[in-house]
Amino acid sequence: MIDLHAHSNHSDGIDSPSELVQNAKLSGIEVLAITDHDTVSGWDEAIQAAKGAGVGLVPGIEISTRAELSPERGISVHLLAYLPDPTYAPLMDRLAMVRESRVGRAQEMAQRLAEDYPISWDEILLNIKPGSTIGRPALADALVRAGVVPDRSAAFESILHRRSKYYVSERTLPTAEAISLVREAGGVPIMAHPLIDFPAGAAESDLPKEHFLSFIEAGIMGFEVDHRSVPQLAKTWLRNLAFEHNLIVTGSSDYHGVGGKENKLGENQTAPEMLERILSQAFGSEAFL
Ligand code: AMP
Ligand code: FE
Ligand code: FE
Ligand code: ZN
Repeated sequence: MIDLHAHSNHSDGIDSPSELVQNAKLSGIEVLAITDHDTVSGWDEAIQAAKGAGVGLVPGIEISTRAELSPERGISVHLLAYLPDPTYAPLMDRLAMVRESRVGRAQEMAQRLAEDYPISWDEILLNIKPGSTIGRPALADALVRAGVVPDRSAAFESILHRRSKYYVSERTLPTAEAISLVREAGGVPIMAHPLIDFPAGAAESDLPKEHFLSFIEAGIMGFEVDHRSVPQLAKTWLRNLAFEHNLIVTGSSDYHGVGGKENKLGENQTAPEMLERILSQAFGSEAFL
């Protein structure tokens, strides 16, 4: 089993990188990618653990980006980057900037929340790993600890929803720039869970084809098609688009740990030949197989 999308406590996952690798081993995963949000800080521990456990490891990142569909309408695009050079400064500097802006944004949301709920920024900081990439899940956890909601999902469906008054939008990098930086760093950029916000019941003609063609133009190398949050209609469309443009398709769990998200390790998988294509096109860093 090959699962190319999983998070540790270096971002919004629950497991440490070693626990993540152990859990992958227990779930029968043969090759795992660690893809924390906007950071490579979990790589070393994951690599050591994978060598010890006999699990294959592909180091990666899930980069927060934003694409402008029109001057008034931007959408959040998560970009998986496999095997980029973790010392390539232009990319690492931009990621550091994104992580920093996430802190300011989380703090702003925490302030808004603290007006109505018994949570505090200090308590939130005490409960995350220092230096980890912060996001709404850390706020959700604080709301759970305060007894406001039963779990992260309940928080995301209400108080932390994009349309909630407590929501502050993130400042991230433009998708096309992120794609270029990943390519320059020798990595393979693949769009994570495309079209998860595509409304159920919408028609195929509503799919943003121009927008996807612009990502292909910018150098995107594949789509994560098999993911629980990608709508069925979009899956077929994406598979055809990938075939037409000779792009990679992957499948992954997007595991965040038990209690982090419902996604289970190995619930979606990547075909061996697709992993081969990733490995053969990457030149930024080493996979441990
Ligand atoms: P942010 O990037 O800070 O806006 O937060 C989005 C993150 O929250 C994503 O990386 C997801 O992994 C996580 N997330 C989204 N929905 C849920 C959910 N229902 N339960 C747990 N985590 C979620
Ligand atoms: Fe996440
Ligand atoms: Fe994501
Ligand atoms: Zn993810």
